[in-house]
Amino acid sequence: MILKILGLVAVLFLIYFFFFKVARTSGGTSPKKPKKLQGETMLECANCSTFVSDSDAIIKDGQFFCSRECAKA
Ligand SMILES: [Zn+2]
Repeated sequence: MILKILGLVAVLFLIYFFFFKVARTSGGTSPKKPKKLQGETMLECANCSTFVSDSDAIIKDGQFFCSRECAKA
């Protein structure tokens, strides 16, 4: 039960944070944003130097990888 409430609070907080962020970035003066595409950060694979979005990246030992194959290598 408590976990459900905590999960709901976390989701609501994320939604609030997301809209707050969007409202800030889209409203008024927004300077150049380097290397950012619709809120996604591009990360370089530590093995093959391919750029992947942070949602697709695999994090292992504090490094970013484009695929599980690269993370194993
Ligand atoms: Zn790679």
